[in-house]
Amino acid sequence: MKLHRLAAAAAAAVMLTGCGGEQQTSQYTMFAMDTCVTLSGCCDRQTLENAGKEITRLEKLWSVNIKGSDIYRLDHEGSAKLSDETAELLRYSLSISERTDGALDPTVFPLLKEWGFTTDEHHVPDSERISELLKNTGWQRLKLDGNRASLPEGMAVDTGAVAKGYAADIIAEKLRADGVSAGIIDLGGNVLTFGEKPDGSSWKISVRDPFGKGTAGTLSLGECSVVTSGSYERCFEQDGIRYHHIIDPATGRPADSGLESVTVIADESRLCDALSTALFVMGEDKAFDFWRESRDFEMIMITSDKRLLISEGIADKFEQSRKGTSYTAEVISR
Ligand code: ADP
Ligand code: MG
Repeated sequence: MKLHRLAAAAAAAVMLTGCGGEQQTSQYTMFAMDTCVTLSGCCDRQTLENAGKEITRLEKLWSVNIKGSDIYRLDHEGSAKLSDETAELLRYSLSISERTDGALDPTVFPLLKEWGFTTDEHHVPDSERISELLKNTGWQRLKLDGNRASLPEGMAVDTGAVAKGYAADIIAEKLRADGVSAGIIDLGGNVLTFGEKPDGSSWKISVRDPFGKGTAGTLSLGECSVVTSGSYERCFEQDGIRYHHIIDPATGRPADSGLESVTVIADESRLCDALSTALFVMGEDKAFDFWRESRDFEMIMITSDKRLLISEGIADKFEQSRKGTSYTAEVISR
């Protein structure tokens, strides 16, 4: 599974080459938040290493597996006093749950566990079991009062759909505060670029081809974040059917929305991360309706029948790959 995620990270790679003048260009790679993290910046390596420590600190607050993390305590004790960062992360997740009418729901965790996505011991639960577990979900039942969070018995949360994006925003802020003029934060393909590229050109961020090993195309952008949720990320096959890790909170099953991937482009990585998951659950029609009502993001969807749908605000910044899968591209207008 880890290797798979490393491959995904490599495909989404964005490069920082040469900071120009006297400035040093550095890169630092580590494993955190269950993925390969690469930090690049116009600074010395130590500055990036310090930022890496910050990611590890956040992971220790947010991991569902690390004993004593804020989320672990909440899940096991039903109530916990959280650090400011965790309370803000949960508050943010809930705001997106509300905005997406529950397509993003951090309380689907009991279902993820049942399907085996947390342990890689996958299995397809029967319908009764799913119905039973669905009773233990519902984002409205996660209560947050200041830094105190509580959950009804049997419920549990996981912040996997938003944590990497949220962390990327925090790290970008830290690096800027440390005086880094430009850089890239790449958490397993969850990309954020900040500052101006030293040579004045735009940042080039590739979008993975879900049907092949290469890229479906490349975005040329100013500072921004680009995050993709894909059905190929963590999945297993049984009886010829592929099951993946994005759960539709309405059915308790992997979202069967006719999509292979959803890429969201926005200023903030937390928004990209939260929406890429939620829009994947919604499927093409609902997601584009949602986009039409919004003004804070753009998106690219790749459907199971090999169409590439791109929102008009980003269409002229995207160049489709000539190699690999041939998609029928369609620009979606407001
Ligand atoms: P990745 O973590 O692979 O980058 P996503 O950002 O799409 O992908 O997040 C998927 C993760 O979010 C799952 O592994 C799980 O932890 C959690 N999750 C799955 N379905 C939902 C959902 N509908 N709402 C909120 N979180 C979800
Ligand atoms: Mg996400």
